[in-house]
Amino acid sequence: MSLIVQKYGGTSMGSVERIRNVAKRVAKWHAAGHQVVVVPSAMSGETNRLLGLAKEISPRPDAREQDMLAATGEQASSSLLAMALIAMGVPARSYAGWQVAVHTDSAYTKARIKSIDSDRVKGDLDAGRVVIVTGFQGIDDNGNITTLGRGGSDTSAVAIAAAMGAEECLIFTDVDGVYTTDPRVVPEARRMSVVSFEEMFELASLGSKVLQIRSVEFAGKYRVPVRVLSSLTDPEIALEEEKNSGTLITFEEDQKMEAAVVSGIAFSRDEAKFTLRAVPDTPGVAYSILGPIAAANIDVDMILQNLSAQGTTDFSFTVNRIDADRTNELLETQIGPAVGAGEIVFDSKVAKVSIVGIGMRSHAGVASAMFRALSEEGINIQMISTSEIKTSVVIDEKYMELAVRALHKAFELDQEKAQ
Ligand code: ASP
Ligand code: MG
Repeated sequence: MSLIVQKYGGTSMGSVERIRNVAKRVAKWHAAGHQVVVVPSAMSGETNRLLGLAKEISPRPDAREQDMLAATGEQASSSLLAMALIAMGVPARSYAGWQVAVHTDSAYTKARIKSIDSDRVKGDLDAGRVVIVTGFQGIDDNGNITTLGRGGSDTSAVAIAAAMGAEECLIFTDVDGVYTTDPRVVPEARRMSVVSFEEMFELASLGSKVLQIRSVEFAGKYRVPVRVLSSLTDPEIALEEEKNSGTLITFEEDQKMEAAVVSGIAFSRDEAKFTLRAVPDTPGVAYSILGPIAAANIDVDMILQNLSAQGTTDFSFTVNRIDADRTNELLETQIGPAVGAGEIVFDSKVAKVSIVGIGMRSHAGVASAMFRALSEEGINIQMISTSEIKTSVVIDEKYMELAVRALHKAFELDQEKAQ
């Protein structure tokens, strides 16, 4: 007997019929003797509907009240699931985040979990009940309801698994695992049976949308094994088969296979690129440009500086596209004039493509193989950044899919590796 946390996404909870299927799946694990804590998302579309209502009331709804509203989505799906289980004869009880309690800071709409009390949930599990805890929400020190940011129930599930010492956290979703890249772009993309935390963290931060990045952070920090698997299979599927399905996200040292040089390819259109041309090249230029950007709480991703013979420099950097307008305004009104930039160029038609793999640590020449594959397709690289286990390039947005396909092929990700 072991304690398992199971998270079900919005699609999996999307209708009464689907909630019944979730109940059947949970009942199967319960009947096999497992203690099960279920963390559901709101029914699909519900969080968007609620936030839409808020926007109709006020273009900038009060953050505390917005969380109060958004948290109701999970409360509804959780109680419906409990009812479905009880109707099937399985003892079950649902709790809102504050009843558990899931303690968070007070950063409404993007709160962070600080700690979770496990006594109440343990008591129910020991009494043979399935326990359902709302995803996405918690309570701050002053008793206010908070939410964890979009996609936050992944993080709720992993945090609950960590707090309860669960054997595994199963993330049931509408895809059957983590793929080498998005199969909509590369039909030959393969499901990985195992991926390391480090790789998953990079993939999630670089644009893969399978898991909320914070949940991966949490899992790595508290060493919770996480499995991403499908909730759309027949709920009656044999337990042993289900246990080994999907993608296991685990620790490098626990993996028996030899690390692939490149495991996955991520991409995003979320970047915007700025270039300040002909900036006088003096000490402190980078700070004068990026200091005010950082002070405005805007994250800079990639940076490139080119020196010219005339003693000036072209300075380029990227930010998330949602921060593009604010960045442009800061550059035009404040930074550009202060550093004596000749011209400010804004390019939103860029994309970032990244290769990720822990094997890059021990293999030289991976980045150059990436550059070769791109050059063979005639794709110009505008910026490059590397870390221990990833290399990212910024390219023209219109070549993004071509680049992803070329790299997938070049690194043979379409081919089954011995595991
Ligand atoms: N219901 C929330 C959302 O739509 C949280 C989640 O589904 O993870 O973002
Ligand atoms: Mg999600």
